[in-house]
Amino acid sequence: MALIITCPVCGKRNGYEFKFGGEEKGPRPDETDLTPKAWCDYVHMNHCVAGVQKEWWCHKDGCGSWFTIYRDTTTNLERQVQKADHQEAEK
Ligand SMILES: [Zn+2]
Repeated sequence: MALIITCPVCGKRNGYEFKFGGEEKGPRPDETDLTPKAWCDYVHMNHCVAGVQKEWWCHKDGCGSWFTIYRDTTTNLERQVQKADHQEAEK
């Protein structure tokens, strides 16, 4: 199944034009009392959801923008795209 990703600047493109940036994990943890294990878990541990998850993607062969999408990992279909102005819109 082909992966089609919607860049907020360029529109729908073939997934080969993009670089996967990983799961959206939220803000960095507070460094106060941060243990090496907690930092390692934040950086390296993923949820690997079988379903819809929020992910970072870069349009490396296009405009170079970083943005997030919601992708169903079981079907490779986008569910929601975050616009360049940081407003989320339903597909
Ligand atoms: Zn683009």
